[in-house]
This record gives sequence, C-alpha cells and structure tokens, in this order.
Amino acid sequence: MLAPVTEAHFGEEELLALNLESSARYPAFVQELEASSDMSCGYDSEGTLQVARDADEDAVLERLLQFQLELGLEVHRLRPRKCRELEPALSPRIRGGIYVPGDHRIDGRALTEALVIACERAGVRFARAKVASIAVTAGRARGVALSDGRVLASDDVVLSAGCWSGSIEGLPPEARPPVRPVKGQVLVLRGSAQEPLIRRSVRGVGVYAVPRRDGRVVVGATVEERGFDVTVTAGAAHDLLRAAYELVPGVTELELIGVFAGLRPGSPDNAPLLGRSGLDGLVIATGHYRNGILLTPVTADAIAALLATGEIDELIAPFAPARFARHEAFSS
Ligand SMILES: Cc1cc2nc3c(=O)[nH]c(=O)nc-3n(C[C@H](O)[C@H](O)[C@H](O)COP(=O)(O)OP(=O)(O)OC[C@H]3O[C@@H](n4cnc5c(N)ncnc54)[C@H](O)[C@@H]3O)c2cc1C
Repeated sequence: MLAPVTEAHFGEEELLALNLESSARYPAFVQELEASSDMSCGYDSEGTLQVARDADEDAVLERLLQFQLELGLEVHRLRPRKCRELEPALSPRIRGGIYVPGDHRIDGRALTEALVIACERAGVRFARAKVASIAVTAGRARGVALSDGRVLASDDVVLSAGCWSGSIEGLPPEARPPVRPVKGQVLVLRGSAQEPLIRRSVRGVGVYAVPRRDGRVVVGATVEERGFDVTVTAGAAHDLLRAAYELVPGVTELELIGVFAGLRPGSPDNAPLLGRSGLDGLVIATGHYRNGILLTPVTADAIAALLATGEIDELIAPFAPARFARHEAFSS
C-alpha cells in the first residue's frame, strides 16, 4: 500500500508530511520507471476504504477521522450502505467506514524488478555479493569489503541494508543505526481478474486486503517482535484469515497460494534515518519500517541530492540519524 493517510498516527505529523510528499511524487516516478524498464509496476490510484467491524472500531474510526480532518487530509465518512455500494463483497456487519481517495497501491515486487532493469540500463553496476564489512580508514568510510573477497573503494557509502543495517561489521558505535527487525506475515490469495472480489484496498483494525490487477488479494500483515525469525506460522495464517473474513467473507472462497514473512526495518520512533551518519563518508538510508515502499521516491531523490551536492533536503532534515546520537540503542 501507498497509504500516507490511513497510516497516519497521532504524534507523527513530520513523518506524515514526508509520506504525503512521497505519495505525491509517485505518479511521475512510476511513469518514468515504467518507461525506463518497459514493464508495469502495477500502480493503481484507486483509493482505500477503511472500515469498522463493530461499535468500538467505529469509535476508533471516528477519532481517526477527526485527526485526519484537522490535518486537512481528504477523507470521507461513509455509512455502512455506502461502504457496501463501493465494495459489495464487504460483510453486512460492517458498522461504517472512511474512504481515502489518496491512498493508492503498487506491486512491490514488480517495482523492485523494474528498478533493477532501469538501473542497469542507466549504467548502474550491481555487485551481487554480501557486504562483509564497511572499510574504514583514518576515521572515514572508504568503501566496502565483500564476502567473496572483493573490496569496492568509494568516496561515499550509503548504508541501506534494511533491518540488517545495524549489524554490518566495521561500523563505529556512533554510526550504527538503531534499527531492528519487525516481522510481518502476509497471505496471498488467488481470485478472478475479470470479477475481482474487491476493487479497492480494504482496511480494518490490524488487517488489510489489497487487490492486485491479476485477481490476487494480499491479506496482511502481522506485526511481531521476533528478531530475525522469518518462519511462517499457522497461527498468523489463522488470525489474518479470520480477521479478513470478518471484513470480506468471500476471501475464504479464494485459493490460498502463499504465506510469506518479511522483516521491516523498525526504528525507535518509527521514522526513517536519512542523511549523514557519525562517520565521514557514510550516509544512512534505513529505518523505513512500515512505509519503505511508499517512501522510495522521496528517499531516492533526497539521498541522490545529498551525494551529488552535499545539501540536505529540508524534507529529510527532521530524520537525521544524529537524532539518536544520545539514544541508548545507538551505541548498544
Ligand atoms: C509484511 C510486510 C508488509 C509491508 N507492507 C508495506 C506497504 O504496504 N507499504 C510500504 O510502503 N511498505 C511496506 N512494508 C515495509 C517495506 O517493505 C520496508 O519498509 C522496505 O522494504 C524497506 O526497504 P529497505 O530497502 O530499506 O530494506 P529491505 O527491503 O529489507 O532491503 C534490504 C536489503 O539489504 C540486503 N542486505 C542486508 N544485509 C546485507 C549485506 N550485508 N550485504 C548486502 N546486502 C545486504 C537485504 O538482502 C535486502 O535485500 C512492508 C513490510 C512487510 C514485512
């Protein structure tokens, strides 16, 4: 999901501004990327419907709506009948909803594939080996040592290894980003492309169902603090399916084609770390947590500008890695 609005949380207004800006850049970013890679990224600008399963959830939605309205976001309160007019497959028990036209979606895997093709065509060379350590001499990052023995020298190094960013060898404590893995499990269901079960992303509290153009529906996602474990569990599949069934009962008629687990790079304040680190020559771009796909264009633009000009885009200034300099986790 590219969901700055339905992902907006109390107290995270600076992050919301970054998320909104990245969302606004998406259409042009996708257009350029699809032209450069000759493939579709499955970008879809249909909005998102956030619904309540019972009176308690409806009260939560109402508070969220007031917060979103205070921030000037475009949201529409819908009665249950209107929700079902938009998405006829919704459960008749739905108590109400919010329609968010600006929360879109993209196929994350297709996006990554397109980026690799576009980068290669633009002359980027990929060294497909693990980074064993950051090479540091005289207090400055000078490149990386790879696990196959090669050393790549460089004036600038960008550390963007997701939740593994904090565990790369060679980093002095003051440059080690305080990121941790936050496990997420999702189910992939196969439905009909001609007669899709749902046309928009449907979100409940703690669960969502996102349609793909080919009829697949992705149901997600758990949020688990289990270190680097990526085991897929029967309990997660049960919980996700049960919660999704309460939103859209027809999900149980679809074919279950996969259960996956991934690791989000979480940071202490749920916001990314973008900019110079405590080590000369090392720039950090990590900690994107739940919104790394959404934040792709703005991250790429700001980090490229920093490398090319030395200037920090004011959009990313609040997310400087140095904000954790005195944080306990930073040096642990
Ligand atoms: C279940 C789930 C659902 C999500 N849904 C959404 C969503 O709807 N919208 C959204 O915007 N975001 C979503 N996210 C979050 C998003 O996937 C992340 O924020 C994003 O992937 C972070 O990107 P990244 O490149 O920083 O890290 P990653 O995607 O984790 O990539 C890091 C890469 O670094 C590589 N690496 C690690 N160590 C080394 C090393 N030593 N040498 C070389 N390479 C290394 C890894 O192999 C990996 O390829 C979701 C995440 C999960 C798990």
